[in-house]
Amino acid sequence: MNLHEYQGKSLLRQFGVTVPEGIVAFTPAEAADAAKELHARTGTLKIAIKAQVHAGGRGKGGGVKIAGNIDEVRLFAEQIIGMKLVTPQTGTEGKLVRKVLVEENIYCPGPSDIREFYMSILLNRETCKNMIVYSPKGGMDIEQVAAEAPEFIFREEIDPTLGLQGFQCRRIAFNLGLSGQAYKCMIRFVDALYKAYLGTDASLFEINPVIKTADDRIIAADSKVVIDNNALVRHPEIIEMRDLDEEDPIEVEAGKFDLNYVKLSGNVGCMVNGAGLAMATMDIIKLYGGEPANFLDVGGSADSKRVEEAFRIILKDPNVKSVLINIFGGIVRCDSVAQGIIDAYRKVGMVQVPVVVRLQGTNAREGKELLDRSGLKVHSVIRLHEAAEMISSILS
Ligand code: GDP
Ligand code: MN
Repeated sequence: MNLHEYQGKSLLRQFGVTVPEGIVAFTPAEAADAAKELHARTGTLKIAIKAQVHAGGRGKGGGVKIAGNIDEVRLFAEQIIGMKLVTPQTGTEGKLVRKVLVEENIYCPGPSDIREFYMSILLNRETCKNMIVYSPKGGMDIEQVAAEAPEFIFREEIDPTLGLQGFQCRRIAFNLGLSGQAYKCMIRFVDALYKAYLGTDASLFEINPVIKTADDRIIAADSKVVIDNNALVRHPEIIEMRDLDEEDPIEVEAGKFDLNYVKLSGNVGCMVNGAGLAMATMDIIKLYGGEPANFLDVGGSADSKRVEEAFRIILKDPNVKSVLINIFGGIVRCDSVAQGIIDAYRKVGMVQVPVVVRLQGTNAREGKELLDRSGLKVHSVIRLHEAAEMISSILS
């Protein structure tokens, strides 16, 4: 599950990671009030206004602005709230901004007095260890650094039985070119950040930039936090942070019916029972030159109700130009699945796209006969490669 920057920072703060003082605001008036409150708390008149959407690259897209007084806070909040923010991560259609983070500007006295580092924590699946990836060249062009000067990207792997060791934190602070007070602060920062990563069951932390202020403090200026969905049961307070506005509406809908649906970019809608079979089906669609529009596992016991919901959900995606239903009748019988498809087809009404059904397993022939006799525009086949071939000839 993805979190907003302000939510990520609130978690970091609980684990002792230094983050700027900030307040989230949904309207320009709230933003102005938040700025007054921050002024009262910190004495600062310089305030950063930051768009809160689940996408990075906001700085480049005009989603981060620095105000020097309350009128500017209101003005910038007016400009940002309601805008469609386009960044390298949103696609050309952009993302609607519904709220902003109003934050003390920590780039004081000016950006030239600040150093920006990159730091992330994630699992290295090859070594089965968490690793801290960091760079002295953080900021908005980290992708370019990684591509052109990979020698400036460092890694520290953490042994799960020993945990993060003191010498590792010291090496990080050293490689970032720090000394004195900033060096000590960085060691505490890294230690707290790693505790936060473990404590929240995160699968990714990306803090870019981590900054060193003119007075040698180390602060997380941004936060991208992804929590492992499988661990959310342990964190009811994090589940509360879920923002459905930021998620794909079809995926949210599928979740309500316990369907494992992931939207993809192709045009062949897929309905399959079993995750492994779903993967194999997507592979074979691609092998025959097609592109799956989604991953959808209706589960092992695909009764007609689930088939119907799945069918509706697939057809909600405007990119879908054909549908491939691939069901293996093991526990479930193919004739009852076929009946479910027929019922769903009739109930959904006006199915504009061709549907190819491949049934295999218990009562596959009976299922095929039901479909063939139904009078619906459903092509039914028994062999998977025939189904994939049919889909690609329909689309070409
Ligand atoms: P991202 O572009 O979505 O990753 O958003 P960031 O939070 O990283 O902000 C982008 C850039 O805005 C940063 O790299 C900084 O250069 C700048 N920035 C962020 N926060 C502040 C701030 O408090 N003050 C100033 N002056 N600049 C900031
Ligand atoms: Mn950033």
